[in-house]
Amino acid sequence: MFPLVGGHEPIVAVGACAMTTLANEQTPARLQASDALFRALFEQSPLSVQVLSQTGETLAVNPAWERLWGVSLADLPGYNLLEDPQLSANGVMPILRRAFAGEPIAIPPVPFVPDRGAHAGRTRWTRAFASPIRDEAGAVTQVVLIHEDVTDLVAAEEGLARLAAIVESSNDAIISRSLDGTITTWNRGAEQLYGYTAEEARGLHVSVVVPPDRQEELTILNERLARGERMEHLETVRLRKDGSRIDVSIGLSPIEDAAGRIIGVSTIARDVSERKRAEAAERFLVRASTELAASLDYRETLGRLAALVVPELADWCIVHLVDEDGALRPLAMAHADPAMAPLAREFERLYPPALDAPIGPPRVLRTGVGELVAQITDEQLAAYAQDAEHLRLLRAAGPRSYVAVPLSARGRILGTISLITAESGRRFRPDDLALANALGERAAAAIDNARLYEEAQVAEARFRGLFEGVADAILVADVERRYVDANAAASGLLGYEREELLRLRVEDIVTDVPEWTEAEYSRYVSEGRWQGELELSRKDGSTVPVEARATVVNLPTGQVFLSAVRDVSARRALEREQQEFLEAVSHDLKNPLTAVRGQAQHLRRQLRRTSTVPLAKLTAALDAIEASATRMSAQLEELQDLARLRAGHPLELETAPTDLAALVRVAATDAQAATGHHRIRVVAPAELWGSWDALRLRRVLDNLLGNAVKYSPGGRIEVTVGEEGRDGTRWAVVAVADEGIGIPAADLPHVFERYRRGGNVAGRIGGAGIGLAGSHQVVEQHGGTIRVASVEGQGSTFTLTLPMEGPSTPAE
Ligand code: ADP
Repeated sequence: MFPLVGGHEPIVAVGACAMTTLANEQTPARLQASDALFRALFEQSPLSVQVLSQTGETLAVNPAWERLWGVSLADLPGYNLLEDPQLSANGVMPILRRAFAGEPIAIPPVPFVPDRGAHAGRTRWTRAFASPIRDEAGAVTQVVLIHEDVTDLVAAEEGLARLAAIVESSNDAIISRSLDGTITTWNRGAEQLYGYTAEEARGLHVSVVVPPDRQEELTILNERLARGERMEHLETVRLRKDGSRIDVSIGLSPIEDAAGRIIGVSTIARDVSERKRAEAAERFLVRASTELAASLDYRETLGRLAALVVPELADWCIVHLVDEDGALRPLAMAHADPAMAPLAREFERLYPPALDAPIGPPRVLRTGVGELVAQITDEQLAAYAQDAEHLRLLRAAGPRSYVAVPLSARGRILGTISLITAESGRRFRPDDLALANALGERAAAAIDNARLYEEAQVAEARFRGLFEGVADAILVADVERRYVDANAAASGLLGYEREELLRLRVEDIVTDVPEWTEAEYSRYVSEGRWQGELELSRKDGSTVPVEARATVVNLPTGQVFLSAVRDVSARRALEREQQEFLEAVSHDLKNPLTAVRGQAQHLRRQLRRTSTVPLAKLTAALDAIEASATRMSAQLEELQDLARLRAGHPLELETAPTDLAALVRVAATDAQAATGHHRIRVVAPAELWGSWDALRLRRVLDNLLGNAVKYSPGGRIEVTVGEEGRDGTRWAVVAVADEGIGIPAADLPHVFERYRRGGNVAGRIGGAGIGLAGSHQVVEQHGGTIRVASVEGQGSTFTLTLPMEGPSTPAE
């Protein structure tokens, strides 16, 4: 539809002044042709055309106009452009008026919101050109408005502006560069991150922000970008203008032109050094913790820790521990320059930290709070220095920055860790202090643990020593009555290896306790102790009488029952032996006493009857009495010697020149007098002199002769006395041989022990088992020997040898 307004006439007027001029020169035929042309243009034009009357009413619109505004002419009854409030509001009205006044004029892009039609409520941006049409007299009759829809353009521009604002305000560094690497855009984030202003950066090659050791990376990235790849979250390192390195996470994407050709690269980079530091700190702590847990020797561990700190965190690390006197002693030290380590140690030795120092480890020790000095000043060095030389050394060491933290565990400060930077020039920051604190906590816990462990070890060793060292057998059982520990004495007593014992239960060993009832057991548990005698079963099936003391011990891990057990079999045997001994002694004394009493009674009866006793009889009786008394006193002396020996006193020999041959002959005569069943023969030289204790040697001879008589039913007893040279010494030798019952081979090694008697005599022939022990003692004391050779049932020969000079050393 083409709305005709006022016939054909106005159509001619549509268009610019040039057209009007052209029309004026046309012939009527050509005019018709140009009318058709204009009509076609009007209809087909992509530009919207609106023809307005001189007063502002719309006279005609073309299809493009209708498409633009979503309305047709029919929708505009009563609409007057010059009264449209939107045009007043958006500032177009004054321009329009100038057009209506006759001035061809361009109207800049303005928004307009149609209030009706298909696009009602939707903003349209148009830019327009208003052309006034004049009549022949030059008066403006119509105004033609040609609109161009620039809505999309405006939106795109808006979007771009918004994008630019975003890029500009972003904290991330956003840069773009051409394919050859020349930087084209550089936002504020990039200025902050890299330190170059946009002005400085533009035109530079992108490699300026890539560290020399990463240039290769740039080539690889470019290759990938050239293939159209996008890359995100690429963690790498970039270089600031000041030469420092920054950890960044970057994203890269190719920039394409409208035809899809890659013409550049845009990069977005984010500073991740903070995060990296945190991660590195975390990793460091993990490594440190592993190191700290590796050994229970904290001295060694702290050394390794110091070595870990240097050079990763500091150039210098010192761990001080508080010693017993409260002073700080360097325990571990590490220096980035190994050559400096001995110097540093010497330095510490010369100048141990003064406990009242205003800064440094002493202050940390006093306050229990970590200390960070980002930049150490000369005043601080001066305050720390103990004298001029110290200050000189401190200055030479050149510490730049320092962190010290306490090592505190369970509320006690065990020491400090100090980290110092020097050569590296690195400055500590608060997050280093936090890291050092975390490190300190872990190290302190490790030291504390190690110390506790050491103490426990010492206690355990002490306990073990005691446990294994005591003579008593100690057995430890748990509440299930299973053995959980046993000492060497327990193994020895019971014949089980420790491991075997630990597989046993109480009832495997304590088999015979009639009174050990459940009631008794629970009383033991409730009272915590028990004491008594019982019998234990050995591995070999035998039993052993013991005296036991049991205690309930409450350990953190549960209750245990600790029994100290003492073997009382020896004591019991001793008691038995002493009992037998007493019986034997009294029996031995009773015989001569009975003889004395018999002689006395006999003499009295004789006197009652005849008032006189023949001299021979009296002499015989007195001889018998004297002999008995002698035997008794000999026996008593023997007992006395024995008692003295038992008390630990050696015999005091009374040596004098003695004729052993004579001594043997007298002893043999006396022995012969006491027996009618034996024939005692002496083979001896006329005399054999030596320096001996005659009384005691007589006792020995009486003993040997007495035994020869006692342990042979009759027969010959031969006593030989001789002399021999051996080892440069002259020895007197006396042998007493009988043909009696002999001694069982098993008892032979023991007959010289106290209370030991032969298996073939015990219970059948009386005796106390002390004679040979006493004889042995006397002979030994003389520096001689006594031996026995015997075959059971065939007789025995006791041989004693005595040095002729008597004992070489006087008895002590
Ligand atoms: P006692 O004779 O009082 O038992 P001794 O100490 O004199 O004590 O002797 C110890 C043991 O040596 C004797 O019990 C005996 O078994 C053995 N014995 C000693 N002399 C002889 C011997 N001449 N013949 C056989 N056995 C002997």
